[in-house]
Amino acid sequence: MSVAQAQARVLPTYAREDVTFVRGEGSWLVDADGRRYLDFVAGIAVVGLGHCHPAPLAAAQAQLERLWHVSNLYWTEPMAQLAERLSDRFGGAQAFFCNSGAEAVEAALKYARKATGKPGVVALEGSFHGRTLGALAATGQPAKRAAFTPLVPGVSFARPNDADSLAAAAGPDTGCILVEPVQGESGVHPATPEFVAAARELADELGALLVLDEVQTGMGRTGTFFAFEQLGVRPDVVTLAKGLANGLPIGCLLVADEAAGGFVPGDHASTFGGNPVACAAAVAVCDELTEERLASVRAHEVFVRASLPAVRGRGLLLAVETEPPAAAAVAECRERGLLVGAAGETALRLTPPLTTTTEELAQGVAILEEVLA
Ligand SMILES: *Cc1c(COP(=O)(O)O)cnc(C)c1O
Repeated sequence: MSVAQAQARVLPTYAREDVTFVRGEGSWLVDADGRRYLDFVAGIAVVGLGHCHPAPLAAAQAQLERLWHVSNLYWTEPMAQLAERLSDRFGGAQAFFCNSGAEAVEAALKYARKATGKPGVVALEGSFHGRTLGALAATGQPAKRAAFTPLVPGVSFARPNDADSLAAAAGPDTGCILVEPVQGESGVHPATPEFVAAARELADELGALLVLDEVQTGMGRTGTFFAFEQLGVRPDVVTLAKGLANGLPIGCLLVADEAAGGFVPGDHASTFGGNPVACAAAVAVCDELTEERLASVRAHEVFVRASLPAVRGRGLLLAVETEPPAAAAVAECRERGLLVGAAGETALRLTPPLTTTTEELAQGVAILEEVLA
């Protein structure tokens, strides 16, 4: 069967670019024709340590040779170790492991309902929380939702960075206030510390949980292990996924010790959740996110901001304005050997590996300067 025939057997849910990758190393990808690309997509902010990083590679390989799966009827060592690592970083939390970002958001929505006894959710316009029916119901992008109604009821939307709008959208039934520290998928729009502080206060007043969706912003992406560390709040619940295992599928619901006790045995489950191979890789990722590595992410943000005009975002979750359509600039960058994403119609999204060297960043920035000129 030809490649085109094989590709026609894949459901067309994506407008994929016409390139097939066969190998990756660090910040570089190699396509089926042997061409090398500098990768500032990193699997959509997933491959935080770069492709085939030796630490998670060795950890996953060793675990593959030992044990692949036993289910959650039993304990495995990597799962408990990962929960402990994440709790230490958070400052006291318990973890539930699943397999993706959307699943982590689903778990958070269920947790908030169970813990507060209140079904209402306040989410933000422009947000993205995933494609399953619950996560989609809380995703503030009508075009993604329209064909799939009725969705989970009880969600209302507020304007981002508008505390009055947030208060107006909430009420006595609100059990969950759901916020991305930086809206990623919809164009890289950071939440202000004032807004997140107002959300924290409102959640406390209402007896609701403040849930921060850190699926994209977590795992060092914004220059701290969690993005909330830069916002001056402590959330009740955090979701993680993308960068957690450097590309192996995993998601995580983290519940702060102050908000513990919502779930009891039987309330939630996932057959593959806590998979030992993914968890072993994730433990290695946590250990690689040293203060030195996080400081270099912050320094590289400064470097990109100094090199390009009209940059927004935090850490290495950045967007740069371009003439619409952004897809044309994405294609031009790819022709020149640089992979970037589109952030809406008017911006490019830059999420290079956190391990990208200053030299590699400069190489990518030089290509962007040419394309954006
Ligand atoms: C990507 C993303 C999700 C969904 O993750 P999937 O693994 O694709 O289900 C949820 N929330 C945020 C903030 C994301 O960026």
